[in-house]
Amino acid sequence: MTLQAPKGTFDWLPPRSERALAVREALTGPARRAGYGYIETPVFEDTALFVRGVGESTDIVSKEMYTFEDKGGRSITLRPEGTASVVRAVLQHGLHNNGQLPVKLWYSGSQFRYERAQKGRYRHFWQVGAEALGSEDPALDAELILLAVDGYAALGLTGVRLLVNTLGDKVCRPVYRAALQDFLRGLDLDEATRARIEINPLRVLDDKRPEVQARLAGAPLVVDHLCEACKAYHEEVRSLLTAAGVAYTDDPRLVRGLDYYTRTTFEFVHDGLGSQSAVGGGGRYDGLSEMLGGPPLPSVGWALGVDRTVLAMEAEGLFGDESAEARVRVYGVPLGEEARRRMFLLVTELRRAGLAADMSFGGKGVKGAMKGADRSGAGYAVILGERDIAEGVAQVKDLASGDQTAVPLAEIVTMLKERLDK
Ligand code: ATP
Ligand code: MG
Repeated sequence: MTLQAPKGTFDWLPPRSERALAVREALTGPARRAGYGYIETPVFEDTALFVRGVGESTDIVSKEMYTFEDKGGRSITLRPEGTASVVRAVLQHGLHNNGQLPVKLWYSGSQFRYERAQKGRYRHFWQVGAEALGSEDPALDAELILLAVDGYAALGLTGVRLLVNTLGDKVCRPVYRAALQDFLRGLDLDEATRARIEINPLRVLDDKRPEVQARLAGAPLVVDHLCEACKAYHEEVRSLLTAAGVAYTDDPRLVRGLDYYTRTTFEFVHDGLGSQSAVGGGGRYDGLSEMLGGPPLPSVGWALGVDRTVLAMEAEGLFGDESAEARVRVYGVPLGEEARRRMFLLVTELRRAGLAADMSFGGKGVKGAMKGADRSGAGYAVILGERDIAEGVAQVKDLASGDQTAVPLAEIVTMLKERLDK
């Protein structure tokens, strides 16, 4: 058997791969136009970063990390998410000390999680993300949500729903946490879930199993335990969203399990995806910088799943023509050795003039080469035979109409550029 890509991974192949590129471009466009700068961090980090920055009680750290020892004996982990790395980089380079807060950054890249592989859930997947560090301002939470909303809209997606919630802060969350633990301890739950009540009770609310959800019906909700400051903050975020015309649903059960996640939390879901319905999510993480040894740096951000967004677009039948830009416009058909040399240079010239061009390789005859021209999707074929060379021309064939004209070699680039730039 030939080698296969590892379980839970897949290859993006053309032309579908153009969709992934288009999604990355569209989802990050609004952030790029809102003052977010591009950051690229390593695909692997010291394991300790994720253990501290994602949290030991999370599924990611407890079950999903690709961790290994490198040849120098260090524990290394392939990144499972982007936020911890971004905060690490900001602290390492002191970006928060440059006088301008918030520090706004966006990223795009591979993430790795050892998951149960299924449609929409992979072991290698792609996320784009945006983070704003160092400001506690409801307008910043609303801005980030809006940037994601605009990204989905730019792709033409209409089925993305926004769920929002707040998780409280250091003042009110501990009170809520204790109330939730009291309630959960009184339920009939399996052992693993009972253990979770003690470490990470909010995460129990997020349990996907229907039988667990049924028992959680009467669970206390964060909204009923918010302090005045958190209540006012959340009201302001919601009112800014409404003012900007963003539709959302309050979801009092939407949680992120860790103590450094505070206040605003949100998720984007799409109903065309089956059980893997989350296309993106994010929230405020006011305590993360301190968890990583930095100063208080209240921050908010999101990560959007590129793979699932492509699936959502396919579910909505939004194929569009993402490959239009990359598609070849002119296809060279050289017939003979001398023609190949000339065509190679002509195609180079066309490309340098900004026209996407390709040519037939491998010394094919006219039939095989013309088949290549048709397959390429090009609008024009440039056919060059021995007699053409002797006459200093090439045959320019309009592949849609079939019209063919002899054009002096020196004029071909200008002529095709004129026709195709229209
Ligand atoms: P889920 O509840 O589906 O496991 P999550 O809470 O683990 O999602 P986040 O860590 O918030 O997801 O990541 C943000 C987005 O990245 C998700 O909304 C999803 O679109 C995407 N994503 C997360 N895990 C995967 C995966 N294994 N394969 C493909 N996309 C993923
Ligand atoms: Mg997950």
